[in-house]
Amino acid sequence: MTEISLEKIKERAEIDAKRNGYYLNPDPKFLKSLLQGLKKNEERYNYPSCPCRLASGKIEFDKDIICPCDYRDVDVIEFGACYCALYVDEKMHTGTIELSPVPERRPLEKQAKSYDSTTKEDQTKKSEIIEEAKVSKLKLWFCEQCGYVVYRDEPPLICPICRAKKEMFSKIKTQIIYSS
Ligand code: SF4
Repeated sequence: MTEISLEKIKERAEIDAKRNGYYLNPDPKFLKSLLQGLKKNEERYNYPSCPCRLASGKIEFDKDIICPCDYRDVDVIEFGACYCALYVDEKMHTGTIELSPVPERRPLEKQAKSYDSTTKEDQTKKSEIIEEAKVSKLKLWFCEQCGYVVYRDEPPLICPICRAKKEMFSKIKTQIIYSS
């Protein structure tokens, strides 16, 4: 296990936030707990997987949730914060707007796969997610103009990234790949 300091994790996140015009969460206690989560995951898996999500431990599968994850930019643009609220926009940073829950954008099939162990608890959780995916009306929508991807029942009226209209969204076919 390679030990990595909390300062290093923080410095890396600060550099990335600055480069992208974001800020780190202004609540020092909350920020510390997220950074500790990243540290723990990096020491455990050798890559800093998201502190708010369960990783599978297989880098190929977890690539989308290595921090900063694939969903960060669209979440900060749309909701003012990433899913964990480690990265926030200026309004959230200055307290002009308050943090509200950011919906999970990671597809349910990927969430289910993370519970792929033999423990009873994981099997139960996996079955629950698979059932949720089966009845979910959420679909994956893709903006043909800028590539923005969103998981919801209907495409957005206006793309939050490039302002393209609803008609520019196409549905991406997904399938349930795990059976209970
Ligand atoms: S949700 Fe935030 S903390 Fe979690 S991986 Fe994405 S950017 Fe990092």
